[in-house]
Amino acid sequence: MGVLKPFLLLLPTVCLIAADPASVEVRALVPGGERAVLRLQFRRGLLIETKPLPRTFLLRKVSGWAVFEDLSAEGKRWVLESLFPEDQWKRDEVIHKVRWPELESVWLMASLFMGHGQNYDKLEKTNPGNPEKLKPGDVWHIPQKLLSPELGGSGTPPVHSQPEDELDDDGKIAAYRALLTFNEDKEGKYAAYLLRKGEALYSSVVIRYTDRVDAKEVNAFADEIAKRSGINDVRSIQPGTLIKIPAKALSAPFQPEGTVALKADQEMREEVRQTRRVDAGPKLDGLRIVLDAGHGGIDRGASANGIWESDFVYDICCRVKWLLEVDTEAQVSSTIRYPGIGFSLRDDIPSPSKAAQVLTTPPFAIDGDSPNAVSVHLRWVLANDLFSSFMKKGDAQKTLFISFHADSLHPSARGTMVYVPGASFVPSSFSLGANRGAGVREMKRGSLAVFSSREKLQGEARSRLFGEALVKALRQSKILVHPNRAIRNVIHRDGMNFIPAVIRYNEARTKVLIEVANLTNEDDAANLRDADFRQRYAEAVVKGIRAYFKK
Ligand SMILES: [Zn+2]
Repeated sequence: MGVLKPFLLLLPTVCLIAADPASVEVRALVPGGERAVLRLQFRRGLLIETKPLPRTFLLRKVSGWAVFEDLSAEGKRWVLESLFPEDQWKRDEVIHKVRWPELESVWLMASLFMGHGQNYDKLEKTNPGNPEKLKPGDVWHIPQKLLSPELGGSGTPPVHSQPEDELDDDGKIAAYRALLTFNEDKEGKYAAYLLRKGEALYSSVVIRYTDRVDAKEVNAFADEIAKRSGINDVRSIQPGTLIKIPAKALSAPFQPEGTVALKADQEMREEVRQTRRVDAGPKLDGLRIVLDAGHGGIDRGASANGIWESDFVYDICCRVKWLLEVDTEAQVSSTIRYPGIGFSLRDDIPSPSKAAQVLTTPPFAIDGDSPNAVSVHLRWVLANDLFSSFMKKGDAQKTLFISFHADSLHPSARGTMVYVPGASFVPSSFSLGANRGAGVREMKRGSLAVFSSREKLQGEARSRLFGEALVKALRQSKILVHPNRAIRNVIHRDGMNFIPAVIRYNEARTKVLIEVANLTNEDDAANLRDADFRQRYAEAVVKGIRAYFKK
């Protein structure tokens, strides 16, 4: 570093650090002659040292480091010119030259120049010949009309918040419902929605009003809705445009008056209001908790942005387990274990772990041809066996099951989603055939799951209450939850409606499956990669458990 110093006086910007390939630092000259550090990090965006900055560069008072969004229009323009001195700012476009291909991405370009990373597809469309994998010196054209308004363009303004964002689940459902009007055309009944400023068809309509969340399904259905609504380009829909959502596709709480699905949903919400919380005291005495990390072994789960699901959710699960064991008197078990790693917490997870086993007797290694078919079932079989031993003496109401996953949704979706067992998707009885139980001892007590109507209703109601406590705890810890209905009781995929088997057949009184983050979203993926985030996440989960088991 010392060697570079003399140049600081000569060059407008100096690239300082190469020791950490995951980030680069630039000392940028601010008006008045001081220099401020700009730190560009791999998949984690940009940090700006605020101390040397003039007041006019910041939108609000920030001490220490600011993120790009904290900067005023003037500050943003200065940062971009300092980071990318070879870019040409023309009247009708910015010509961007890739400077750090290992740190930059199309998503990052879109978030810096166009107001939001989710505009990456527009940028790709405008530069059709450019490879998505960046090389130094690649040239990207960003037309004026795509630049964010702060940079003099007419592109997307920064993401808007909506008035209902802060409401609880009931409040949100009511507010979302109030935005619909029902009508009919020659194609049948539909709900009419007027798109608001800052909203996109994917997240604000499809993900919010239907049970589709899978990226492909969301895209396909957005196209279908656009066609029905007479919209030609899904990517540039003006605010105020009328969107017709086929009534059949609406989630239960948004169904027209008089439908069976709506009535069932209202009954469920009443059940939630009537359900009394169970008090386990500050030490969580007498609580039986079974934790489950999705996938493992040969099955890595979802993957995107250089991250795969299994190891990262396993680490969160281990952290929750550890916190509960250190801080509480709850009895805690995990359904799976990684041999060699055990339950130790890992700051770095460089590559996928090859082995994982379900902790049945004998343990079942997740290494077969179709590992999911057996291991997914063995998880609830094991959990039910543990719960049934516990219930012989303990309070059945004090049983909790949490399964940790991460999904790969549409890239615009961010944050945690919590699945609860929708009462109408739980069977009255289900028996796992002996041939699918891999001969484990737990099959004897755990392979038959039986639920009365009352148990199904209570199972959903309690799990919803827990979901609410969890979402609240996450929010308090500044962890993003999905803005459009974070608590869901069904998944729609390939024309089927279902809830995952681990919670469907689970006899815990309270049971949820948490999709911690959306791997397809770069910011979410970066969070998962970060051990501090995983620790904060685990702490928030424990906070949610404490809040739920309190009268
Ligand atoms: Zn999963």
